[in-house]
Amino acid sequence: MLDANPVINQPLDHPLLEEKGIELSIKRLDWVHEFVPGNKFYKLFFNLLQAKQEKKNTLLTFGGAYSNHIHAVAHAAHLLGFHSIGIIRGEETLPLNPTLAAAKAQGMELHYISRSQYREKTTPEFLENLKTLFGDFYLIPEGGTNREAIQGTEKILEEEDAIYSHICVSIGTGGTFVGILKSASPHQEIVGLSSLKGNFIHREIETLLEKFETEPKTHFSISTEYHFGGYANYQQPLIDFIWWFFETFGIVLDPIYTGKMIFGIWDLIKKNHFPRGSKILAIHTGGLQGNEGFTFQTGIKLPPLSR
Ligand SMILES: *Cc1c(COP(=O)(O)O)cnc(C)c1O
Repeated sequence: MLDANPVINQPLDHPLLEEKGIELSIKRLDWVHEFVPGNKFYKLFFNLLQAKQEKKNTLLTFGGAYSNHIHAVAHAAHLLGFHSIGIIRGEETLPLNPTLAAAKAQGMELHYISRSQYREKTTPEFLENLKTLFGDFYLIPEGGTNREAIQGTEKILEEEDAIYSHICVSIGTGGTFVGILKSASPHQEIVGLSSLKGNFIHREIETLLEKFETEPKTHFSISTEYHFGGYANYQQPLIDFIWWFFETFGIVLDPIYTGKMIFGIWDLIKKNHFPRGSKILAIHTGGLQGNEGFTFQTGIKLPPLSR
């Protein structure tokens, strides 16, 4: 199986934190694995075990052309000796962007479908078609959120993390947020920061909590204010913040998830949202493979990934 590197909580030192009486540490999941970093390591771990147990040879999953999930599945499959198939939303464009080029280099078979077909991808007919095309496979849903994924994201928080009063995490599909809710200590407050535009995420999280029989023991809240226009959008203040954060703390963020989350936390600290004496742990969920793709797509430079 995939082996995890030890994960550290890195405390930040800054006059604003001192002024507001706040401790802020970053949980560096971006270091948990060289090729399958971030929350995707946790979301895939038990899926990979399950696929092995079911004696599957092939993993099949879905994603957009810049998806961290596609990238992670391709690398995990290669390391563990699975064949992998990525069903990609939209048309093939050449040259391949860095995400898809890396996935292909790991042996992932890329299969493109239209956006309208993509919306049908969870119907029984569509899955039957895939079986006819590709034979037997282990299916990992888009974004990777299923029961096994939650089982994995429940392992992100460790016992020592009970010292924190607040845990902050970015939300895409919400699988990571729900795993953290399940494993948090009752005195902790869990703050999810949605990277997507819109209020639908509240309903979405309710659905996940029901589906995975979760009755949170902790307080939680979801902020929908720091999406910066939604998934594939960016705005200059966010890019400037990512550079400032890198130059100040030496930590690289991505513009889709972690950049928005930390921007949001920093803003909430400025606005006195967190009481004096709060100890905040922000989860760095990785996603840095996407930075190269972001630059490829927009021409906008982001901090270098080598450390
Ligand atoms: C996929 C991803 C997320 C979103 O995780 P969900 O479990 O879908 O909410 C957050 N951050 C990064 C860096 C990701 O790659």
